Amino acid sequence: MEQISEHVWWLPPGPPDRPSLCAVVGERRTLMLDAGASRAHARLLLDALPRRPDAVVYTHSHWDHVLGAVEVGGLVIAHALTAERLRELAACDWTDDGLDARVAAGLSSPQHAENVKEELPSPRTVEVMPADIVFADRIDIELGGVTARVRHVGGAHADDSCVVFVDPDGVLFLGDALCDAIDERLRTAVRSFGARLHVEGHHEAVTSAAELEEVLTDPSTAENAP
Ligand SMILES: [Zn+2]
Repeated sequence: MEQISEHVWWLPPGPPDRPSLCAVVGERRTLMLDAGASRAHARLLLDALPRRPDAVVYTHSHWDHVLGAVEVGGLVIAHALTAERLRELAACDWTDDGLDARVAAGLSSPQHAENVKEELPSPRTVEVMPADIVFADRIDIELGGVTARVRHVGGAHADDSCVVFVDPDGVLFLGDALCDAIDERLRTAVRSFGARLHVEGHHEAVTSAAELEEVLTDPSTAENAP
């Protein structure tokens, strides 16, 4: 756990597929950015905080970003599309057999099944915390001296992808929004924040504006852009 700006704490990603988590600590409220892959993953962040988060916002509905919420216990804030996907996630068969059947049917990758098995050993109980507060396009969360501005950006990785700009810290929490092909619309949306620091879901380091520009203009991501 590392403090990366006045109000933002960052727990870097880890194996098997744990994404970055952040906590934004305001004078009145604390907000967690993504909930993590499991109770154990969320616990790592919770144990390092002076107080329990009042709420968590999901960047998108992928399991590794949401399944830790049951350990957080606060309100869940999510985009309408994410809220819908959470219901599908809750209805999934999470047993080893169920995971293997989805791989066999081509619905998920073998790597996905392996990661779930490692993060949540069998027999596993998967509790998907549904959204308490659902927003359509954007929502601002006032924490006291600091504001989390959540914006839906969509994109190739997940159509429900949202990013969170922490104001005035100038930190942009990106979830997995840049994990797949980046088109001009997404590039413009990300640049529009003019953030100083960027936290990506599965990237080992916090990136500067210059480093982010390299990601945005990387030919391997631009080749799929319209
Ligand atoms: Zn994802």
